[in-house]
Amino acid sequence: MEYYIADSAVFIMGTGIEPHRMITIPSVVNELKSNEASMRFELARENGARVEMPEDSSRKAVMEIAKETRDCEELSATDVDILAKALEYKGTSVLLTDDYAVQNVARILGIEVKPVAQKKIKDVLVWQKECVGCRRRFDSGDVCPVCGSSLKKRRKRKI
Ligand SMILES: [Zn+2]
Repeated sequence: MEYYIADSAVFIMGTGIEPHRMITIPSVVNELKSNEASMRFELARENGARVEMPEDSSRKAVMEIAKETRDCEELSATDVDILAKALEYKGTSVLLTDDYAVQNVARILGIEVKPVAQKKIKDVLVWQKECVGCRRRFDSGDVCPVCGSSLKKRRKRKI
């Protein structure tokens, strides 16, 4: 049976995928803020969708590749987790994501990827940079103008 590894876009946008073929990770579930997305997830889980924690060894494998391609700066902890989970099901699964950095790393790892709604997703999710030092948030940049620490990309819902 072929599985679908579901990034948050799957629950935000909705898809026609059979829930019993769907696998996601705890951090994706925690990022679902809207009632609509949470309800889609609950419904999928009631009908057989699985929530699985990725293994540390697969996380490490993802980070090694992401460092080589320099995508590691663009990947959030959730992105690494979803890639790690997809890696564990490589060959029997398709990763559903609209994140370009995730798609890029997935291709290098030999993971099959399909977008959910690349154009529409931009209306739903926006990105921000958060300082690893002082936690201030900025729209762009790589270095915090306040404390000089590096900035990491974070997902932020558009209101
Ligand atoms: Zn700072």
